Amino acid sequence: MSNKHQLNTKLIHAGEPKERYAGAVSMPIFQSSTFAFGGETNYHDLKYIRLNNTPNHIALHQKLAALERAEDALVTSSGMAAISASLLAFLKTGDHFLAHESLYGGTHDLITKDFPELGIEYDFIDGRDPSGWHNKLRPNTKLIYVETITNPLLDVLDLNAVVSFAKSNQLVSMIDNTFASPVNYRPIEHGFDLSLHSATKYLNGHTDIVAGAAIGSKDIVTKVRHKLNHLGGALDPNACFLMHRGMKTLGLRMERQNTNSLEIATFLEGHPKVKKVNHPGLESNPNHERAKELFSGFSGMVSFEIDSNVDDADRFMSSLTLFINTASLGGVESLVTRPVQTSHSGMAKEDRLASGIKDELIRMSIGIEDAEDLIADLDQALDKI
Ligand code: PLP
Repeated sequence: MSNKHQLNTKLIHAGEPKERYAGAVSMPIFQSSTFAFGGETNYHDLKYIRLNNTPNHIALHQKLAALERAEDALVTSSGMAAISASLLAFLKTGDHFLAHESLYGGTHDLITKDFPELGIEYDFIDGRDPSGWHNKLRPNTKLIYVETITNPLLDVLDLNAVVSFAKSNQLVSMIDNTFASPVNYRPIEHGFDLSLHSATKYLNGHTDIVAGAAIGSKDIVTKVRHKLNHLGGALDPNACFLMHRGMKTLGLRMERQNTNSLEIATFLEGHPKVKKVNHPGLESNPNHERAKELFSGFSGMVSFEIDSNVDDADRFMSSLTLFINTASLGGVESLVTRPVQTSHSGMAKEDRLASGIKDELIRMSIGIEDAEDLIADLDQALDKI
């Protein structure tokens, strides 16, 4: 589909079959593990669900590539399948890479616990400040890995500097773009080599599947696809169908989540019982200028500290009636969690505190409900502490 179309048009039309199957307006589910041999000459081209090339996969690949203005894309059985297959496609024993120091817990564990067993070396860097990156380079450094907006403090890294550092040092640049979604940031347009997503979150948006995506040039995505074909993390056609359906409303959902979260962050910032609010859309946020320059919206995530202790944080959370207490994010419903109990429970306390993640920190994923109702709910729960 032509790049002259805007994002919401692409969400509906890109990747849809040119001739609709039996006229079906909605892409049908091709629930067949294998397909009749068609003379393919390459193992990876045989039509088989694990080889990520059934009609449901292809439609999604084309839609995702169009969204981030890339040549190609791949869907995977989870965000972690996309991240692990991508890193393993470009790193082998004896290689070294750089990664931002505060990453999604699953990625952090993969790097710190599994990669040393494979003989893959790494150094963490502060992705907000390029001054220290050069010192960490080694002759065997191959790659740099960052996230668009960090979890749970919602920092925005110096993404333009990451791209130019990668280019001048011949590194492959990868970015986990889950928190921004293609609506707010399109890494390939800015020069990144590979954009990764937990499609479980905003891309699908309905809290009913686990899925992932890798988006980039044809060469790079082909390398990742071949690695995934061997590792086996293919997305099932039923989940492809749900993701395909969910993605059609991504633009509408994200627009609403962008505005809801900013209204909520502004409300919290003005509340006497709230000590600190993290949201890149707030003018007071140290990342605000960078976020404004890079993004079309600031995402639906807000984290904050109440001016009290952990017991009050828990009392506040259990007093909420509309927010569901659970980890994960990016769905239509608003969620609340204390990262120390969930997403960051595996992190050593001293590492957590050193990166600014306090026990009483609360993180919210704002849904598409009416902001007025969400704010009234937060207000009554703050009254309980
Ligand atoms: N990246 C980010 C930023 C995440 O928040 C998550 C999950 O929470 C993942 C990757 C992993 O995604 P999945 O759970 O779909 O494997």
